[in-house]
Amino acid sequence: MIGRDITSTKTGPLLSALFLFVLVVLAVLAGCGQDKTVWKLTGPTMGTAYHITLVDVPEGVERAELQTAIDAELDAVNQEMSTYIPDSELMRFNRASVGEPVDVSAHLAEVIERSLEIYRNSSGAFDVTVGPLVNLWGFGPDLEPEVIPDAAQIRALREQIGSDALRIDGQQLSRSRPVEIDLSAIAKGHGVDRVADLLVQRGIANFLVEIGGELRTGGVNPSGKTWRIGIERPSAGQVVQQPIQVSDRGVATSGDYRNYYERDGKRYAHIIDPRTGAPVEHRLASVTVIAGTCAEADGYATALNVMGAEAALQLAEELQLAVFLLVKTDSGFEERASSAFQPYLESQGR
Ligand code: ADP
Ligand code: MG
Repeated sequence: MIGRDITSTKTGPLLSALFLFVLVVLAVLAGCGQDKTVWKLTGPTMGTAYHITLVDVPEGVERAELQTAIDAELDAVNQEMSTYIPDSELMRFNRASVGEPVDVSAHLAEVIERSLEIYRNSSGAFDVTVGPLVNLWGFGPDLEPEVIPDAAQIRALREQIGSDALRIDGQQLSRSRPVEIDLSAIAKGHGVDRVADLLVQRGIANFLVEIGGELRTGGVNPSGKTWRIGIERPSAGQVVQQPIQVSDRGVATSGDYRNYYERDGKRYAHIIDPRTGAPVEHRLASVTVIAGTCAEADGYATALNVMGAEAALQLAEELQLAVFLLVKTDSGFEERASSAFQPYLESQGR
């Protein structure tokens, strides 16, 4: 699993979480026998896969039963938030009448509240109603467009979208215009949080949970130290650009090279700037965010990716967000980190 994560440049997670970790595990197992138990659980979810590493699982936790519970939790997340399940809670809202309040689960309410906060904080760069534009550009259920969308098509759809039309009041969700919600940019992170919460409930303190490149760590790694994660250098595939050390936080990366197509020498990426209606075009190659929850890290990674390097760093300082950017230069990549990210940089030593 780790090899796949690291080597795939187009579809694999660009945050190759376990690259350094693998080396550490091998050293521990070789050096001091089998006194630390390490479990690895993996399975399909959300059009990608989960990879979970558990260290020193308490007695009484049964492995098969635990994995069944994790699968059930992720199924529940999908049943609440997927746009691919016609009768998911989210799709039922998307079909409800405009103005009509719809009762939603506490989890869906929480993710929407978080999404609206990121929408406001990013001045609309992050917008969960952007789906029709994502489809127009060929990154939704519709296929890649035969021809690049024209200005009139884009304008027509831009007029329909906007999270300002959404209202969440406790567990009641409503909309003042016929906008539709797509949580693709934050649901994976939330899925990671749900699995992490389940593990903690069962007394499992040391874990790394990853879904499609978004992850959360708890406690310590198999060598009893803070988890070490490698931020991959875009395009080089297997090279770790920057090692970081992080425990009990969510980590997410948004990059422009994981999901894109090229047409007439131009690259079109799956992150859409709702303010222009077109795929983002700038020299920001990847954005990594560390936050209290993985949902927050995931959402902000997408938001800051839309904003571009300068605006992203400015917002990171304003909100005290831990953010690491890789910016393309003519000769390679430039690293930029916000103040709140400094403690996680391995070279700073901890
Ligand atoms: P990344 O890891 O690159 O941020 P995510 O998987 O988190 O990618 O989110 C990408 C998905 O989010 C897209 O495929 C699209 O469905 C949706 N999306 C695209 N642009 C935006 C945006 N500006 N705001 C919110 N969601 C977006
Ligand atoms: Mg995201």
